[in-house]
Amino acid sequence: MKLICIGRNYSEHAKELGNTVPDEPVVFLKPPTALIPHGGPIRLPAFSNDVHHEIELVYSIRRHNGRAEADRVTIGLDLTARDLQQELKQKGLPWEKAKAFDGSAYVAEAFTAVESFPAGKHVEFMLKKNGQVVQSGHSGQMVYDVPALIAHVERYMQLENGDLLFTGTPAGVGPLAAGDRLEGYLLGELLFDLQVA
Ligand code: ZN
Repeated sequence: MKLICIGRNYSEHAKELGNTVPDEPVVFLKPPTALIPHGGPIRLPAFSNDVHHEIELVYSIRRHNGRAEADRVTIGLDLTARDLQQELKQKGLPWEKAKAFDGSAYVAEAFTAVESFPAGKHVEFMLKKNGQVVQSGHSGQMVYDVPALIAHVERYMQLENGDLLFTGTPAGVGPLAAGDRLEGYLLGELLFDLQVA
């Protein structure tokens, strides 16, 4: 099982970090060891002073008749050591140290079947930090939609059953501190409630 992540897939978020909207999807990976156990806590790594929350729609992949499809959706966190990522970007180096560290990913336990959404209905999601809404968005704001992302990723690497596709974060990313509480909502329903240790 692998975690495939998409960067800069919401234009307002690309802008807030001073990036342009890419002319093709930005793809990176996290290993399964990045996953935080269900219920948390989030543990901030010692090598960074600026770990940001990024809430994202996460789709689980299933192969059906030889094709990879997104069959279920939930929300997750792509935690990012922003200071280290800036340094790596400036040097033109890969992002893994800033993105794929132990405890850099969370995936909520409850998934919803994609086919249960009426065609054209946007999947809304939201993150609260210490009770305040800091990020909100919906699937209709993605620069590249899920079928386009799957097709693009599969030009380079095969998707397997159970792979998890993180589809990028909307604007409003920000730093985490010890004691912070993060609540993630999908379609208005609370799916995770995590504490930063
Ligand atoms: Zn992200």
